[in-house]
Amino acid sequence: MRFNKVLDDIKIYEAGKPIELVVREYGIASEDVVKLASNENPIGTSPAVAKAIVANANKAHLYPDDSMFELKNGLAQKYGVRDENIIIGAGSDQVLEFISRAVLDENSSVLMSAVTFAMYEIYAKQMGAKIIRTASYEHKYDEFMEAYRMHKPRIIYLCTPNNPTGDATSREDVLKLIDVVDKETLIVVDGAYMEYAAAKDEKYAITPNDLLGFENVIYLGTFSKAYGLGGMRVGYGIAQPELIHELYKMRPPFNISTLSLAAAIEACKDDDFVADSIALHQEQIKRYETFAEEQGFDYIESYTNFITYLFDENMDSTEISDALLKRGVIIRNLASYGMNAVRITIGTEKQNDVFFKHFLEVTA
Ligand code: PMP
Repeated sequence: MRFNKVLDDIKIYEAGKPIELVVREYGIASEDVVKLASNENPIGTSPAVAKAIVANANKAHLYPDDSMFELKNGLAQKYGVRDENIIIGAGSDQVLEFISRAVLDENSSVLMSAVTFAMYEIYAKQMGAKIIRTASYEHKYDEFMEAYRMHKPRIIYLCTPNNPTGDATSREDVLKLIDVVDKETLIVVDGAYMEYAAAKDEKYAITPNDLLGFENVIYLGTFSKAYGLGGMRVGYGIAQPELIHELYKMRPPFNISTLSLAAAIEACKDDDFVADSIALHQEQIKRYETFAEEQGFDYIESYTNFITYLFDENMDSTEISDALLKRGVIIRNLASYGMNAVRITIGTEKQNDVFFKHFLEVTA
Protein backbone atom coordinates (compact mmCIF):
# COMPACT_ATOMS: atom_id res chain seq x y z
CA MET A 1 0.00 0.00 0.00
CA ARG A 2 1.44 3.39 -0.95
CA PHE A 3 0.83 6.52 1.05
CA ASN A 4 1.53 10.14 0.32
CA LYS A 5 5.30 10.50 0.83
CA VAL A 6 4.86 13.56 3.04
CA LEU A 7 3.56 11.21 5.75
CA ASP A 8 7.02 9.63 6.15
CA ASP A 9 8.19 12.70 7.99
CA ILE A 10 5.17 13.17 10.28
CA LYS A 11 5.14 12.10 13.91
CA ILE A 12 1.63 11.37 15.18
CA TYR A 13 0.43 13.99 17.68
CA GLU A 14 0.72 12.71 21.21
CA ALA A 15 -2.34 13.91 23.13
CA GLY A 16 -2.41 14.17 26.92
CA LYS A 17 -3.13 10.77 28.44
CA PRO A 18 -6.82 10.20 29.23
CA ILE A 19 -8.17 9.27 32.66
CA GLU A 20 -9.51 6.01 31.16
CA LEU A 21 -5.95 4.84 30.37
CA VAL A 22 -4.82 5.24 33.99
CA VAL A 23 -7.92 3.39 35.19
CA ARG A 24 -7.25 0.55 32.73
CA GLU A 25 -3.48 0.25 33.16
CA TYR A 26 -3.00 0.94 36.85
CA GLY A 27 -6.35 -0.10 38.29
CA ILE A 28 -6.89 3.31 39.90
CA ALA A 29 -10.51 4.38 40.40
CA SER A 30 -11.42 7.17 37.98
CA GLU A 31 -12.42 9.50 40.83
CA ASP A 32 -8.89 9.19 42.23
CA VAL A 33 -7.18 10.15 38.98
CA VAL A 34 -5.96 13.74 38.79
CA LYS A 35 -5.54 14.87 35.21
CA LEU A 36 -3.38 17.94 34.86
CA ALA A 37 -2.13 17.19 31.37
CA SER A 38 -4.30 18.79 28.71
CA ASN A 39 -4.88 22.35 29.92
CA GLU A 40 -8.57 21.77 30.44
CA ASN A 41 -10.60 23.94 32.78
CA PRO A 42 -10.47 22.33 36.25
CA ILE A 43 -13.76 23.97 37.30
CA GLY A 44 -15.54 21.89 34.68
CA THR A 45 -18.37 23.04 32.47
CA SER A 46 -20.52 26.06 33.29
CA PRO A 47 -23.93 24.88 34.62
CA ALA A 48 -25.71 27.15 32.11
CA VAL A 49 -23.79 25.53 29.28
CA ALA A 50 -24.45 22.01 30.57
CA LYS A 51 -28.13 22.90 30.66
CA ALA A 52 -28.03 24.12 27.06
CA ILE A 53 -26.38 20.85 25.97
CA VAL A 54 -29.08 18.78 27.69
CA ALA A 55 -31.83 21.01 26.30
CA ASN A 56 -30.56 20.33 22.79
CA ALA A 57 -30.15 16.57 23.22
CA ASN A 58 -33.43 15.91 21.39
CA LYS A 59 -32.05 17.73 18.35
CA ALA A 60 -29.21 15.27 17.88
CA HIS A 61 -30.86 13.92 14.71
CA LEU A 62 -30.67 17.36 13.08
CA TYR A 63 -27.63 18.84 11.42
CA PRO A 64 -26.62 22.08 13.12
CA ASP A 65 -27.32 25.53 11.64
CA ASP A 66 -24.46 25.55 9.15
CA SER A 67 -24.36 29.34 9.04
CA MET A 68 -23.62 29.27 12.81
CA PHE A 69 -25.40 32.59 12.85
CA GLU A 70 -26.01 32.80 16.58
CA LEU A 71 -22.53 31.73 17.60
CA LYS A 72 -20.90 34.14 15.18
CA ASN A 73 -23.18 36.83 16.53
CA GLY A 74 -22.09 36.06 20.09
CA LEU A 75 -18.43 36.21 19.13
CA ALA A 76 -18.97 39.33 17.04
CA GLN A 77 -20.48 41.08 20.03
CA LYS A 78 -17.82 39.85 22.41
CA TYR A 79 -14.99 41.11 20.23
CA GLY A 80 -16.61 44.05 18.46
CA VAL A 81 -16.16 42.49 15.01
CA ARG A 82 -18.60 41.41 12.27
CA ASP A 83 -19.97 37.98 11.35
CA GLU A 84 -18.01 38.01 8.09
CA ASN A 85 -14.76 38.24 10.06
CA ILE A 86 -15.35 34.85 11.70
CA ILE A 87 -14.85 31.20 10.80
CA ILE A 88 -15.71 28.44 13.27
CA GLY A 89 -13.76 25.20 13.54
CA ALA A 90 -13.98 21.90 15.39
CA GLY A 91 -11.50 23.34 17.87
CA SER A 92 -9.07 26.01 16.75
CA ASP A 93 -7.14 22.95 15.56
CA GLN A 94 -9.47 22.69 12.61
CA VAL A 95 -9.00 26.37 11.76
CA LEU A 96 -5.23 25.73 11.79
CA GLU A 97 -5.85 22.93 9.32
CA PHE A 98 -7.92 25.19 7.04
CA ILE A 99 -5.15 27.79 7.12
CA SER A 100 -2.45 25.31 6.29
CA ARG A 101 -4.38 23.83 3.39
CA ALA A 102 -5.38 27.22 2.03
CA VAL A 103 -1.90 28.72 2.10
CA LEU A 104 0.83 26.06 1.88
CA ASP A 105 2.28 23.86 -0.81
CA GLU A 106 5.46 21.81 -1.22
CA ASN A 107 7.48 24.89 -2.20
CA SER A 108 6.61 26.86 0.89
CA SER A 109 7.90 27.14 4.42
CA VAL A 110 6.45 28.05 7.81
CA LEU A 111 8.20 29.81 10.65
CA MET A 112 7.63 29.15 14.35
CA SER A 113 9.50 29.26 17.63
CA ALA A 114 11.79 26.41 18.73
CA VAL A 115 9.19 24.90 21.06
CA THR A 116 5.56 25.58 20.30
CA PHE A 117 2.20 23.94 19.57
CA ALA A 118 2.89 20.67 17.73
CA MET A 119 0.01 20.89 15.26
CA TYR A 120 1.60 23.80 13.34
CA GLU A 121 4.33 21.42 12.21
CA ILE A 122 2.03 18.49 11.52
CA TYR A 123 -0.38 20.48 9.33
CA ALA A 124 2.51 22.11 7.48
CA LYS A 125 4.17 18.78 6.80
CA GLN A 126 0.89 17.38 5.48
CA MET A 127 1.19 20.02 2.77
CA GLY A 128 4.83 19.15 2.11
CA ALA A 129 5.96 22.52 3.49
CA LYS A 130 9.31 23.08 5.18
CA ILE A 131 9.53 23.89 8.89
CA ILE A 132 11.77 26.72 10.05
CA ARG A 133 12.25 27.27 13.77
CA THR A 134 13.92 30.08 15.64
CA ALA A 135 16.56 29.19 18.24
CA SER A 136 14.50 30.12 21.32
CA TYR A 137 11.20 28.89 22.60
CA GLU A 138 10.29 32.51 23.36
CA HIS A 139 9.13 34.57 20.39
CA LYS A 140 12.18 36.81 20.01
CA TYR A 141 11.70 39.59 17.51
CA ASP A 142 15.27 39.53 16.16
CA GLU A 143 15.26 35.77 15.68
CA PHE A 144 11.94 35.89 13.86
CA MET A 145 13.10 38.76 11.64
CA GLU A 146 16.32 37.04 10.72
CA ALA A 147 14.55 33.80 9.80
CA TYR A 148 11.81 35.70 7.98
CA ARG A 149 14.32 37.59 5.83
CA MET A 150 16.23 34.44 5.02
CA HIS A 151 13.31 32.12 4.22
CA LYS A 152 10.32 34.31 3.33
CA PRO A 153 7.90 31.80 4.93
CA ARG A 154 4.27 31.69 3.79
CA ILE A 155 3.09 31.46 7.40
CA ILE A 156 4.51 32.78 10.67
CA TYR A 157 2.98 31.27 13.80
CA LEU A 158 2.96 33.46 16.88
CA CYS A 159 1.62 31.41 19.75
CA THR A 160 0.95 33.81 22.59
CA PRO A 161 0.79 32.72 25.27
CA ASN A 162 2.91 29.84 24.03
CA ASN A 163 2.12 26.16 24.53
CA PRO A 164 3.89 24.19 26.03
CA THR A 165 6.15 26.77 27.67
CA GLY A 166 3.62 29.27 29.04
CA ASP A 167 5.53 32.45 28.20
CA ALA A 168 3.87 35.26 26.25
CA THR A 169 4.79 37.87 23.66
CA SER A 170 3.75 41.47 24.26
CA ARG A 171 1.20 43.16 22.05
CA GLU A 172 3.88 45.68 21.13
CA ASP A 173 6.26 42.98 19.85
CA VAL A 174 3.52 41.21 17.90
CA LEU A 175 2.49 44.47 16.22
CA LYS A 176 6.11 45.37 15.51
CA LEU A 177 6.57 42.10 13.64
CA ILE A 178 3.30 42.43 11.75
CA ASP A 179 4.37 45.88 10.66
CA VAL A 180 7.53 44.76 8.90
CA VAL A 181 6.38 41.47 7.39
CA ASP A 182 5.07 41.84 3.85
CA LYS A 183 1.54 40.86 2.82
CA GLU A 184 2.64 37.65 1.11
CA THR A 185 3.19 36.07 4.53
CA LEU A 186 0.24 35.14 6.71
CA ILE A 187 0.74 35.79 10.42
CA VAL A 188 -1.27 33.53 12.69
CA VAL A 189 -1.70 34.86 16.22
CA ASP A 190 -2.80 31.85 18.24
CA GLY A 191 -4.54 33.14 21.36
CA ALA A 192 -5.79 29.80 22.73
CA TYR A 193 -4.77 30.95 26.24
CA MET A 194 -5.20 34.69 25.72
CA GLU A 195 -7.85 35.08 28.45
CA TYR A 196 -5.25 34.12 31.08
CA ALA A 197 -2.53 36.42 29.71
CA ALA A 198 -4.90 39.37 29.37
CA ALA A 199 -6.04 38.94 32.97
CA LYS A 200 -2.46 38.78 34.22
CA ASP A 201 -0.89 41.72 32.40
CA GLU A 202 -2.51 44.14 29.97
CA LYS A 203 0.77 44.39 28.01
CA TYR A 204 0.16 40.87 26.77
CA ALA A 205 -3.51 41.29 25.91
CA ILE A 206 -4.13 41.00 22.19
CA THR A 207 -7.64 41.23 20.79
CA PRO A 208 -8.84 40.33 17.30
CA ASN A 209 -9.55 44.02 16.82
CA ASP A 210 -5.88 44.89 17.33
CA LEU A 211 -5.18 42.80 14.24
CA LEU A 212 -8.16 43.34 11.95
CA GLY A 213 -6.50 46.23 10.12
CA PHE A 214 -4.04 43.81 8.52
CA GLU A 215 -5.14 41.69 5.56
CA ASN A 216 -2.48 39.04 6.24
CA VAL A 217 -3.17 38.39 9.93
CA ILE A 218 -5.59 35.99 11.61
CA TYR A 219 -6.41 35.66 15.30
CA LEU A 220 -7.32 32.22 16.66
CA GLY A 221 -9.31 31.61 19.82
CA THR A 222 -10.93 28.62 21.46
CA PHE A 223 -13.69 27.59 23.84
CA SER A 224 -11.51 24.70 25.09
CA LYS A 225 -9.63 26.49 27.87
CA ALA A 226 -11.07 29.43 29.84
CA TYR A 227 -14.59 28.57 28.62
CA GLY A 228 -14.32 24.99 29.83
CA LEU A 229 -15.46 23.28 26.63
CA GLY A 230 -12.50 21.12 25.58
CA GLY A 231 -14.78 18.17 24.97
CA MET A 232 -17.11 20.13 22.71
CA ARG A 233 -14.43 21.07 20.17
CA VAL A 234 -15.21 24.64 19.21
CA GLY A 235 -12.65 27.23 18.13
CA TYR A 236 -12.59 30.20 15.79
CA GLY A 237 -10.51 32.36 13.50
CA ILE A 238 -11.05 36.12 13.14
CA ALA A 239 -9.64 38.04 10.17
CA GLN A 240 -10.59 40.27 7.26
CA PRO A 241 -13.52 38.90 5.20
CA GLU A 242 -11.38 38.08 2.12
CA LEU A 243 -9.16 35.78 4.16
CA ILE A 244 -12.13 34.16 5.92
CA HIS A 245 -13.75 33.60 2.52
CA GLU A 246 -10.73 31.63 1.29
CA LEU A 247 -10.63 29.52 4.46
CA TYR A 248 -14.31 28.69 3.98
CA LYS A 249 -13.32 26.81 0.80
CA MET A 250 -11.56 24.26 3.04
CA ARG A 251 -14.43 23.82 5.51
CA PRO A 252 -16.64 20.73 5.37
CA PRO A 253 -20.35 21.34 6.05
CA PHE A 254 -21.65 21.01 9.62
CA ASN A 255 -18.11 20.96 11.00
CA ILE A 256 -19.18 21.28 14.62
CA SER A 257 -21.98 19.30 16.17
CA THR A 258 -25.47 20.50 17.11
CA LEU A 259 -24.59 20.11 20.81
CA SER A 260 -21.22 21.85 20.44
CA LEU A 261 -22.91 24.76 18.75
CA ALA A 262 -25.53 25.05 21.51
CA ALA A 263 -22.79 24.87 24.15
CA ALA A 264 -20.63 27.55 22.57
CA ILE A 265 -23.57 29.92 22.04
CA GLU A 266 -24.36 29.70 25.75
CA ALA A 267 -20.71 29.92 26.78
CA CYS A 268 -20.39 33.25 24.95
CA LYS A 269 -22.94 34.71 27.35
CA ASP A 270 -21.40 33.31 30.52
CA ASP A 271 -18.68 35.83 31.36
CA ASP A 272 -18.98 35.03 35.08
CA PHE A 273 -17.81 31.48 34.49
CA VAL A 274 -14.70 32.69 32.69
CA ALA A 275 -14.02 35.24 35.44
CA ASP A 276 -14.39 32.55 38.13
CA SER A 277 -12.08 30.22 36.21
CA ILE A 278 -9.41 32.87 35.94
CA ALA A 279 -9.74 33.89 39.60
CA LEU A 280 -9.24 30.29 40.75
CA HIS A 281 -6.34 29.92 38.38
CA GLN A 282 -4.57 33.07 39.56
CA GLU A 283 -4.86 32.01 43.17
CA GLN A 284 -3.69 28.43 42.57
CA ILE A 285 -0.78 29.11 40.22
CA LYS A 286 0.95 31.02 43.02
CA ARG A 287 1.16 27.75 44.93
CA TYR A 288 3.02 26.15 42.02
CA GLU A 289 5.50 29.03 41.90
CA THR A 290 6.14 28.86 45.65
CA PHE A 291 6.44 25.07 45.48
CA ALA A 292 9.14 25.25 42.78
CA GLU A 293 11.03 27.91 44.71
CA GLU A 294 10.90 25.82 47.88
CA GLN A 295 12.01 22.69 46.04
CA GLY A 296 14.83 24.53 44.32
CA PHE A 297 14.04 24.16 40.62
CA ASP A 298 13.16 26.68 37.94
CA TYR A 299 9.92 27.36 36.19
CA ILE A 300 8.90 29.53 33.27
CA GLU A 301 6.74 32.46 34.28
CA SER A 302 3.32 31.48 33.01
CA TYR A 303 0.69 33.52 31.20
CA THR A 304 -1.45 30.43 30.62
CA ASN A 305 -3.50 27.93 32.62
CA PHE A 306 -0.46 25.68 33.09
CA ILE A 307 3.08 25.99 34.39
CA THR A 308 6.29 24.52 33.03
CA TYR A 309 8.80 23.22 35.56
CA LEU A 310 12.41 23.06 34.34
CA PHE A 311 14.66 20.36 35.83
CA ASP A 312 18.43 20.10 36.04
CA GLU A 313 20.45 16.90 35.58
CA ASN A 314 19.48 15.66 39.04
CA MET A 315 15.85 15.28 38.02
CA ASP A 316 14.47 13.46 35.01
CA SER A 317 11.16 14.60 33.54
CA THR A 318 10.35 11.16 32.10
CA GLU A 319 10.99 9.33 35.36
CA ILE A 320 8.98 11.86 37.32
CA SER A 321 5.98 11.87 34.96
CA ASP A 322 5.96 8.06 34.73
CA ALA A 323 6.09 7.70 38.52
CA LEU A 324 3.26 10.20 38.91
CA LEU A 325 1.19 8.42 36.27
CA LYS A 326 1.39 5.16 38.21
CA ARG A 327 -0.05 7.07 41.17
CA GLY A 328 -2.89 8.43 39.06
CA VAL A 329 -1.50 11.92 38.50
CA ILE A 330 -1.29 12.77 34.80
CA ILE A 331 1.00 15.62 33.76
CA ARG A 332 2.76 16.36 30.47
CA ASN A 333 6.35 15.29 30.01
CA LEU A 334 8.16 17.66 27.64
CA ALA A 335 11.03 15.26 26.83
CA SER A 336 9.64 14.83 23.31
CA TYR A 337 10.13 18.58 22.83
CA GLY A 338 13.78 18.15 23.78
CA MET A 339 13.26 19.66 27.23
CA ASN A 340 13.94 18.13 30.63
CA ALA A 341 10.73 19.72 31.83
CA VAL A 342 7.12 18.97 32.67
CA ARG A 343 3.98 20.96 31.96
CA ILE A 344 1.31 20.90 34.61
CA THR A 345 -2.20 22.26 34.14
CA ILE A 346 -3.21 24.25 37.21
CA GLY A 347 -6.02 22.29 38.86
CA THR A 348 -8.49 22.90 41.64
CA GLU A 349 -7.12 23.38 45.16
CA LYS A 350 -7.73 19.71 45.91
CA GLN A 351 -6.16 18.43 42.70
CA ASN A 352 -3.11 20.61 43.32
CA ASP A 353 -2.80 19.25 46.87
CA VAL A 354 -2.70 15.73 45.41
CA PHE A 355 -0.09 16.77 42.85
CA PHE A 356 2.23 18.36 45.46
CA LYS A 357 1.94 15.35 47.77
CA HIS A 358 2.80 12.81 45.08
CA PHE A 359 5.48 14.97 43.53
CA LEU A 360 7.28 15.18 46.87
CA GLU A 361 7.02 11.42 47.32
CA VAL A 362 8.29 10.47 43.86
CA THR A 363 11.20 12.93 44.02
CA ALA A 364 12.17 12.15 47.64
N1 PMP B 1 -3.49 26.33 19.96
C1 PMP B 1 -2.82 26.06 21.08
C2 PMP B 1 -1.66 26.91 21.42
C3 PMP B 1 -3.20 24.99 21.88
O1 PMP B 1 -2.51 24.71 22.99
C4 PMP B 1 -4.31 24.21 21.51
C5 PMP B 1 -4.78 23.03 22.32
N2 PMP B 1 -3.98 22.47 23.21
C6 PMP B 1 -4.96 24.55 20.34
C7 PMP B 1 -4.55 25.61 19.59
C8 PMP B 1 -6.14 23.76 19.86
O2 PMP B 1 -7.17 23.84 20.75
P1 PMP B 1 -8.64 23.42 20.38
O3 PMP B 1 -8.55 22.63 19.11
O4 PMP B 1 -9.12 22.64 21.54
O5 PMP B 1 -9.37 24.71 20.18
